[in-house]
Amino acid sequence: MAAILLVEDAPDIARLVRRALTIASYEVVVAADGRQAIDAFAAERPDLVLLDLMLPDIDGVEVCREMRRIETAQARQRVPVLMLTALTSQRDREAGFEAGADDYLAKPFGIAELLDRVGALTFAHSDV
Ligand SMILES: [Mg+2]
Repeated sequence: MAAILLVEDAPDIARLVRRALTIASYEVVVAADGRQAIDAFAAERPDLVLLDLMLPDIDGVEVCREMRRIETAQARQRVPVLMLTALTSQRDREAGFEAGADDYLAKPFGIAELLDRVGALTFAHSDV
């Protein structure tokens, strides 16, 4: 069973996504801000990160960069990061990929599409 770190500061979205992922048999850890996300990433070693970009403390793009630094520093396998955000300009998307994102989902998104992308990213990395 894949473990997912869900980084989302909006409680209603976090609750909805967590419920959908749990029903789909993923293990879910929720972080409500960037600091919690970085600490959880270092401690939990998730198989996938769902990362909201607009967080109350640290910008999600910077959180992603820090996660990639932790992977390098600890010689860890690269974990897929799926960014979730209402910021969908080309520039915002490029900034996300430059920071180390693997995929991008614009808010508002449907749960079915989220589960499809999560499935694709966890399957693609499951046999590495
Ligand atoms: Mg947010």
